[in-house]
Amino acid sequence: MSTTDNAIASAEAHSAHNYHPLPVVVATAEGAWMTDVEGRRHLDMLAGYSALNFGHGNRRLIDAARAQLERVTLTSRAFHHDRFADFCTRLAELCGMEMVLPMNTGAEAVETAVKTARKWGYRVKGVPDGMAKIIVAADNFHGRTTTVISFSTDPEARADFGPYTPGFEIVPYGDLTAMREAMTENTVAVLIEPIQGEAGVLVPPPGYLAGVRELTRERDVLFIADEIQSGLGRTGKTFACEHEGVVPDMYLLGKALGGGVVPVSAVVSSAAVLGVYRPGEHGSTFGGNPLACAVALEVIAMLNTGEYQQRATELGDHLHQELGLLVGGGAVRAVRGRGLWAGVDIEPALGTGREISERLMERRVLVKDTHGSTIRIAPPLVINKEDLDWGLDQLRAVLRG
Ligand SMILES: *Cc1c(COP(=O)(O)O)cnc(C)c1O
Repeated sequence: MSTTDNAIASAEAHSAHNYHPLPVVVATAEGAWMTDVEGRRHLDMLAGYSALNFGHGNRRLIDAARAQLERVTLTSRAFHHDRFADFCTRLAELCGMEMVLPMNTGAEAVETAVKTARKWGYRVKGVPDGMAKIIVAADNFHGRTTTVISFSTDPEARADFGPYTPGFEIVPYGDLTAMREAMTENTVAVLIEPIQGEAGVLVPPPGYLAGVRELTRERDVLFIADEIQSGLGRTGKTFACEHEGVVPDMYLLGKALGGGVVPVSAVVSSAAVLGVYRPGEHGSTFGGNPLACAVALEVIAMLNTGEYQQRATELGDHLHQELGLLVGGGAVRAVRGRGLWAGVDIEPALGTGREISERLMERRVLVKDTHGSTIRIAPPLVINKEDLDWGLDQLRAVLRG
């Protein structure tokens, strides 16, 4: 058996099969490239679902992490530490908001948003106890906890995990009328992704996010934007909401916030909203730890240069132009997305998304399928044009068969 086969067999024997990874075993990585245990180089066109926006082994981020490793890594929130205030201040500034509640994973940020919106609903809006409702969109992806999968419409994510958490109303994504009709006096929040990633990089119709903003403002409802995957440069802006000139009441951040080094997530909002918390009401042992803050501070500084957003815009224009040429030629049905982020619907006759991903892997390009015959392309924002073009060449070769 090859080193690769051995490693995979061993992983299958001793880990739960809650994933179906491509048969590649990565040993090292740098920039947009990963080298496997047999020394083969693969172009990373997934970037850890945007967790690796700044590429593998980014010098600035590794140096920031290493320096912090030598100082202090964890205090718990029982004590203050000297990176915390800076992290919260800088992140709030980046978001144009006032307060930050740090957590670790994206799902925890979503959980925190749900708890925050409910508490705000009872304490500030005056919703009767136990009656708060949150409106979400069909085909959403917000994480894997029991509450979060309670409002998933994906049977795979949801089946056999009940009983489910009540208090959520599901409406079709992109449909303002349905959202308006679902709103009641007890609605405390709308929680949506400004672009739905897992659903296949679905960009809502023009005016939708602005419409949600207007509707939520009118009805005294919080607009929660889950920018865990879409935020922090991926779409060519710091936040995907900016494409419609929209500022939500709350940003949920994760993935790229930890620079591909450590898990860092956060809820960022106004003092009126995050000010509802009193000591003891919510928390996390690792949330806002010194190592996380040090890495995230470097991420924020990098985003403040605007360089990554610009790369995503320029390379993204190129990516979408090239992918657009494939549509209608018999191999590609549709392409969606913004910036360096694309969902590509392959003609089902050519194979499932998984099969296309496997064929791309044989050509040393790593992507991830989503439902049906859709693949997602989201390389690190540090990828250069030559490598991106090479990746696109491999896609064209796979589609030619
Ligand atoms: C990945 C993701 C999450 C969950 O993040 P985890 O860190 O995996 O818990 C939530 N929302 C969106 C939009 C995501 O892409």
